[in-house]
Amino acid sequence: MSIKIVVLPGDGIGPEVSNAAQLVLDTISSKFNLNIQMEEKLMGGVSIDQHGVALTDETLADCINAKAVLLGAVGGPKWDNPNAKIRPEQGLLTLRKEMGLFANLRPIKVHPQLHDASPLKNNLLNDVDILVVRELTGGIYFGKPSERIISQNGTLSAVDSMIYNDFEIKRIVELACKLSENRKSSVTSVDKANVLESSRLWRQIANNVFDVHPNIKSNHILVDAAAMHLISQPAKFDVIVTSNLFGDILTDEASVLTGSMGNLPSASIGKNGPGLYEPIHGSAPDIAGKGIANPIGMILSTALLLRYSLDQEKAAMSIEKAVNLALEDGCRTVDLNDQKSLSTQEMTNEIIMRLESINI
Ligand code: NAD
Repeated sequence: MSIKIVVLPGDGIGPEVSNAAQLVLDTISSKFNLNIQMEEKLMGGVSIDQHGVALTDETLADCINAKAVLLGAVGGPKWDNPNAKIRPEQGLLTLRKEMGLFANLRPIKVHPQLHDASPLKNNLLNDVDILVVRELTGGIYFGKPSERIISQNGTLSAVDSMIYNDFEIKRIVELACKLSENRKSSVTSVDKANVLESSRLWRQIANNVFDVHPNIKSNHILVDAAAMHLISQPAKFDVIVTSNLFGDILTDEASVLTGSMGNLPSASIGKNGPGLYEPIHGSAPDIAGKGIANPIGMILSTALLLRYSLDQEKAAMSIEKAVNLALEDGCRTVDLNDQKSLSTQEMTNEIIMRLESINI
């Protein structure tokens, strides 16, 4: 039986890095005899251009019926008009909501060979190995009302609502605790409980979950302090669990530790059903079409797909090892070394060459 994966290359550098990921998955499929079948579909700006919507019902149904979904990135200046009613990100938000992907996992590891690519001092980067567990289907990105209001005196206002339900907080903190058990059993919950009522509920529910996991070392910190500690003492974190907005911001900040946001993968998972795997970067319009995008974040996303959706740990580890070996051997794209850099295709070839000869 074949394993069906839907690939949504999207916009900008999305198709360039998706192509790299598909070549890696093809190699893994043959190496581990997995019979993976990939099918490309449109989402984001390209779908708006072709179908008038960021995600068609048909593509959504294909994603829900697949074993997993691989996404490049969506968006770009062509569709960035803030007043537009139809926007590329709507496809992504609909996909997350309809697939029930309430958890976004973002592992952040600093490769020893890439210390110099980070603006932080080298000694701060030793032993950094963080897993950010970001809540993905609640909070301010989905709260209603979200609208503009014109008052009677003509003042223009805008409102967004940060809403969290107890069950949304409980399931994400429980997942963070479960994932920490295979790591250092330490969970930091990040909120803004000194100001926000939704954060006070978050902290209360998180404490209820921590109470039934006495083996896990848990603590709470405010998001402003978390932002500071992420760059002043990053090695002290193990698992970080936080809300949709705070997780979005903190993971972009944490990507700087690794030298480039092009390095970081992510997995979005739900209770059951297919997961969605994508690099944390966007469509990078400034370098799109040049063939120079770093494919590592996207390639490592395929490792997460193999781990979380296909239960193929050895295949996942093989990809991670191949990426590490390529970096150890000095292979770099332009975001990591602008002096002597490889194209997206060359970097992908280097990784695949090592993948083919790895035995785990
Ligand atoms: P971005 O992540 O696209 O780019 C930020 C910077 O990082 C750019 O200088 C870019 O060249 C660089 N960069 C990103 N990925 C890279 C890679 N793989 N290799 C080398 N360099 C890389 O963020 P942005 O510029 O704020 O957003 C551009 C567009 O992407 C916007 O339309 C935004 O809405 C969209 N976006 C989409 C997603 C997504 O699809 N999940 C996420 C974030 C942003």
